[in-house]
Amino acid sequence: MYKIMTAGPTQVRENVRQARSLETTNPDLDEAFCEFYKETCDLLEELLHSSGTAYILGGEGILGLEAACASLTEPGDRVLVLDNGIFGKGFADFVRIYGGEPVLFTSDYRRPIDVDQLKAFLEKDSDFKYATVVHCDTPSGVLNDVSQICPLLAAQGILSVVDSVAGMFGEAIDVDASKIDILCGGSQKALSAPAGLTMLWVSDKAMAAMENRRTPIASFYANILTFKTYYEDKWFPYTMPISDINGLRAAVDNVMADKDILRRHEKIAAATRQAVEEAGLKLYLETGFSNTVTVIEVPEGLTDTQILSTMREKHNIMISGCFDVLAGKVIRIGHMGENACEEDMAQTLAAMDETLVELGWPLARGMKDTFLRLMEKE
Ligand SMILES: *Cc1c(COP(=O)(O)O)cnc(C)c1O
Repeated sequence: MYKIMTAGPTQVRENVRQARSLETTNPDLDEAFCEFYKETCDLLEELLHSSGTAYILGGEGILGLEAACASLTEPGDRVLVLDNGIFGKGFADFVRIYGGEPVLFTSDYRRPIDVDQLKAFLEKDSDFKYATVVHCDTPSGVLNDVSQICPLLAAQGILSVVDSVAGMFGEAIDVDASKIDILCGGSQKALSAPAGLTMLWVSDKAMAAMENRRTPIASFYANILTFKTYYEDKWFPYTMPISDINGLRAAVDNVMADKDILRRHEKIAAATRQAVEEAGLKLYLETGFSNTVTVIEVPEGLTDTQILSTMREKHNIMISGCFDVLAGKVIRIGHMGENACEEDMAQTLAAMDETLVELGWPLARGMKDTFLRLMEKE
């Protein structure tokens, strides 16, 4: 087994794995499961400060993004797609699939969305049913300030869909204060449960928009409305993956008990970035670093494959490369959730040091030592 220090899926704690192996009931018929599901959703609402409703859907993180677009988009709807990263731009595809007209607001992939520029744009054109924005766009690691962006959209009557799959629990999110209408999360990033579940936080406004559509939602599996009355009816639209949800609940409990989680992410991320720079490597971003992932340019003279395979084969550690426009250009270390652990990061950076030396790259200073020195400071 490799140690997975990737940008998700992340490492899974023993108690989460154990919870997934519990004996299970029939989740369609046993009302105890319905209560357990509701309780878990209530905890998710509490954790991210939502007065709307949280739902857990059986399907990978991508399902949540698609469900948000499927449930809101009607043919001909104009949808503002905030694009400063690969996932950001990707929302345009979901909008198109459901007959909407995506309008891209594209900005520099190496920095967060400039809120003033967005404001100026919206003053000229604000005729959008909803807008999509990614909190942490994982391929670059850029963090967008959704606490500024979403209220701006709300002031123009535009609903907001936020992908925080790789942000939440490693970066602060306050759904109500930020006026987020649909927040999308996944099980396998900072929550550190295995891949397979989507979580959605849906505002009453977003629910009303779905109910007041002129045309039916062109999906069943990605239709958020099918969950609306599950608790009153004690009936889910399809059989819930009970073992996955048992694991997710253990992971939610872990996060709830971890009062230091955001500060730890911040400290580990800052130490990692500084260690990378002092080593003579280059961070991909100019500003706007998410504390969940560090994205490093592939150094001159080396390839991503050389680094990734040496890390795997000689050091038994898996880190991420990238895809789409960043394929071959960057490598990524995921330090979110269970991966936000000093020991694991020290081990990963030590392996990176050795890997670069083995590959003949002139490392200016060992990353592990810098990292540990910085972690000692208060
Ligand atoms: C991981 C991730 C997703 C979900 O992608 P999967 O392929 O389902 O894991 C969505 N958005 C972002 C920003 C992500 O990092």
